[in-house]
Amino acid sequence: MTDIHDAIIIGAGHNGMAAAGYLSRAGKKVVVVERSAKVGGMTTSGYLIPEAPDYLVTPCAVELLFVRNSGLIEDLELAKHGLRTIDPDPSYAYLHPDGSSIALFRDYKRTADDIARIHPGDGKQYLKFMEVMDALMDIGFPIMMAEPGRPDFSNLGKMIGGAVRNVKLKDQLIAISKATSDQVACEWFEHPATIGLLTGIAAGAGPLDDDGNAAAYMIFAVTHRLGTGKPVGSLQSFSNALAASITASGAEIMVDAPVVEILIEDGAAKGVRLADGRVLRSKVVIATSDPRTTFALTTPGGVERRLLQRIEHVPSNRSNAAPFLANVAMAAPLRLKRHQDLRHDGANINNAVGLIGVPDEVRESFASARRGDIPQRHAVSVSPMSNIDPSQAPEGCSVAYLYLPAMAVDAREGWSPELKDKTMTSIIAQLSEYYDGFDKEVGRFVETAREREKRVGATNGCVTHVDFGPLRSGLHRPATGFGGPKPAVPGLFLGGAGSHPGGGVSGIAGRIAADRTLRYLKKMR
Ligand SMILES: Cc1cc2nc3c(=O)[nH]c(=O)nc-3n(C[C@H](O)[C@H](O)[C@H](O)COP(=O)(O)OP(=O)(O)OC[C@H]3O[C@@H](n4cnc5c(N)ncnc54)[C@H](O)[C@@H]3O)c2cc1C
Repeated sequence: MTDIHDAIIIGAGHNGMAAAGYLSRAGKKVVVVERSAKVGGMTTSGYLIPEAPDYLVTPCAVELLFVRNSGLIEDLELAKHGLRTIDPDPSYAYLHPDGSSIALFRDYKRTADDIARIHPGDGKQYLKFMEVMDALMDIGFPIMMAEPGRPDFSNLGKMIGGAVRNVKLKDQLIAISKATSDQVACEWFEHPATIGLLTGIAAGAGPLDDDGNAAAYMIFAVTHRLGTGKPVGSLQSFSNALAASITASGAEIMVDAPVVEILIEDGAAKGVRLADGRVLRSKVVIATSDPRTTFALTTPGGVERRLLQRIEHVPSNRSNAAPFLANVAMAAPLRLKRHQDLRHDGANINNAVGLIGVPDEVRESFASARRGDIPQRHAVSVSPMSNIDPSQAPEGCSVAYLYLPAMAVDAREGWSPELKDKTMTSIIAQLSEYYDGFDKEVGRFVETAREREKRVGATNGCVTHVDFGPLRSGLHRPATGFGGPKPAVPGLFLGGAGSHPGGGVSGIAGRIAADRTLRYLKKMR
């Protein structure tokens, strides 16, 4: 019996490692089993371009955001284990085709002034908008932090405090929480550049016309309050810090260890079987793999068919739109052609994430993806990785991270290498209207959603594992019956992006799974 782990955690993504960190610090015997050769899941980076071996590639997440407010960095002492971050200010810049730009500064009043230069009315509106977004964060962040289905007086108090302080904004908050992000952008602002800033940011959270996704604008408050947090050495250094922290507190990590079966015996999870045939036994299994992958691994006949069907129907990129990701290595600096020179202040927007795509281009990207087509013009953000952190490319050279939020998961004609190349050619042509450097390309890493599905093992390559929406949040994430404190299958807890609070780098889902596990183990005793 002494060989039995308290918990086996499937997946060494950041949520799996967060769960392991909290459990090992509570004195529990835990092992993390990861199918890939290294830790990180969707928070990794590496030297992935054979023709450009000195350029660091970031294939998934690029900035930290929510984790800077969730307590994970402090609780697991990630700074002590090597995590360093950089906060470019401005963090983002919307690049309008006429050469004008709107910079997102830490100081939202400065951003409002920047908008006011283009459209005085929109500048004033931004101040009001930020008042509502701040209120949304005051109320929304404690909801994200709280465990669904369990009284949590600390977070409940913060949430109620936020609601009371902002009671005069109640109607606006309700309207925004029900609306589409496109509607809110157009209702609040008038100039295409201001609307473009909003739709460019919102596109990262899913289709602009999904009801309820205007809540994604909370990201403005997060960015103004917390910055964006780009890890030095990119996301692998965040994951490596997590791995160092959890192993220091006694957790074991096994890489190259795919789970092929979650053992369900007598109706409860009792361990896992690895691809090499080894069986690891435990009192609890925490799965941070996406829910569909997780339940497909359970022992045949072990889980009620009705529950399996409920998970089988959970949506992942239901609209056929998902991020298409590229990193381009260049033997030249990456510099804006006109937008930097046309700035009226000294703000360095060469170091900001460039948001490219007028509102109609963003809308058309989602519409094309739904049809399975590739649009002529793209919605794309350009993270100038080596401008921010020069260690990521050789001196005088650069690496750019290109994120296209809305590309077809399944293209009508199929994602052949030729279609990938053709798509990249049109993306680079569009970006070259804005930036110098792309004509000196020395290599690239390009990944469609289907390729990401294979690499990170997430259904349909979905960055949030399960689509986010008001009907799939809290207790109902990933599906009704699977989000509460009591696991749908005894001993099997979900702790990845497919559970509350959802996708993004926060570590909250992992921490909640650890809390639930601790209570479950206590009851078992
Ligand atoms: C292109 C892209 C850009 C993004 N940008 C950002 C960003 O800038 N900021 C942000 O906050 N978020 C971003 N995200 C989202 C964020 O990265 C994810 O939502 C989050 O990292 C998910 O973490 P996780 O630990 O829950 O899951 P994952 O990171 O997916 O980890 C799950 C782990 O389980 C492992 N696994 C799966 N099946 C098995 C098995 N059978 N056996 C063993 N192991 C298994 C996987 O290999 C993986 O390591 C981005 C995501 C993508 C894809």
